[in-house]
Amino acid sequence: MKLKVKSVVLILTMLLCSLAPAFAYAADPYPKTSPTHGKFGQFKYKEASGGRIEIDPSWSKSNIVSVSLPGVNKTVSIHKNAKDALVKAFTTIKNDPALLKKVKTLDGTWVPRHISWDASKPLSEHSWGIAIDINASANPQGSKPTSDNKTLWEKAFKPAGFNWGGNFSGSDVDGMHFEMPY
Ligand SMILES: [Zn+2]
Repeated sequence: MKLKVKSVVLILTMLLCSLAPAFAYAADPYPKTSPTHGKFGQFKYKEASGGRIEIDPSWSKSNIVSVSLPGVNKTVSIHKNAKDALVKAFTTIKNDPALLKKVKTLDGTWVPRHISWDASKPLSEHSWGIAIDINASANPQGSKPTSDNKTLWEKAFKPAGFNWGGNFSGSDVDGMHFEMPY
């Protein structure tokens, strides 16, 4: 009887030991952690294809909100702490027909990805939902921004607290891109 108990204990121990590594090394679904961006926070993520990333949905759920942009009849996803500034910029645009005409396309707000969709580059501010691209086709990265986008920044986005990619230097110039400082 005593021997039998010992055998059972031994078998159980062996079983547990063989299972333990599976628990210890269970893959973290979001093994990477972003830098922190002040009030916009940081998140866990994993790499995806084409320079995209996949963010831990628990972060997105508590930080990313939908907002209807005044004037352009479009709903976009944005960080909850950038929402008021974005609404302010688009309220200015809505109230100035000449400005509203300058907004031809909206080309992305919350897009979890690396800069330039290049996995070797840092994470884009779009990952945090604190940037918006406007008139992308006429304002590709690295080229001279259009006067339309310069005017949009000066009259609507700058007063709302945004920085403009048109002011970035050299090949980083990004005239389509407006972002909240962090
Ligand atoms: Zn951008």
